[in-house]
Amino acid sequence: MKKVVLITGANRGIGLEAARQMKAKKYEVLLTSRNMEDGERAARDLGVSFHQLDVLSAKSIEALKSQVETEFGRLDALINNAGILIDRKDHILDISEEKLRTTLDTNTYAPLALTRAFLPMMLEENYGRVVNVSSVLGQISSFNDYTPAYRLSKLALNGITLMLADAVKGKNILINSIHPGWVKTDMGGEEAPLSLEEGARGLVWAATLPDNGPQGGFFQHGKKMDW
Ligand code: NAP
Repeated sequence: MKKVVLITGANRGIGLEAARQMKAKKYEVLLTSRNMEDGERAARDLGVSFHQLDVLSAKSIEALKSQVETEFGRLDALINNAGILIDRKDHILDISEEKLRTTLDTNTYAPLALTRAFLPMMLEENYGRVVNVSSVLGQISSFNDYTPAYRLSKLALNGITLMLADAVKGKNILINSIHPGWVKTDMGGEEAPLSLEEGARGLVWAATLPDNGPQGGFFQHGKKMDW
């Protein structure tokens, strides 16, 4: 039986490339996107199934969870990839509360909500891999005032990775934070040194870890990073 992976924000960028690489590893790929048209096109081109998911909508998460339960009865890997970076010109002293909240809702609370939704299925199978796509910008040791909401959201996401890992201690469910590197995407920009292929590789590594793989860590390209 094929293992099943769900990837958020997979209509473009690193998420789409992760979908391609997971398919090559013979996974049943559930490509999700908030935009139906974009997602359907991406899934059709790749030859995988499409499922609409706006990570900000609790209803959308619940509906997809029910669908996965009915169709597959299991989820082996969850890649929390969807993310936004909307505060490149802002500073901690004057960034709007709205930007702070939207960023934290998308980059931090949504991965937590998705993990909480799908964890019971993983616990039932005693198998699961959760990949929280984080960033070096969330590394507290290098914090400064550039992109304050984004930094905060990824720092908190790393905290969530640690707490979730502790919560599933002793189970065959491995939960890690991954920095993909600086990757050429709409978010990363043209000047980024890494290709999509290189950027998605670390996510795929964490989504396919062996049973004795790491738990509750922060990695780039399979190498441990400082928090
Ligand atoms: P991207 O090209 O901007 O793609 C972001 C994806 O997230 C898009 O598919 C977008 O969907 C989706 N998304 C945003 N809000 C969503 C929502 N509410 N519901 C569902 N999907 C939503 O970014 P990327 O570079 O591939 O980034 C992927 C992940 O890697 C992010 O978590 C990012 O923080 C992280 N990261 C990237 C870099 C880099 O250099 N690129 C570095 C470090 C970390 P729409 O198309 O509908 O907007």
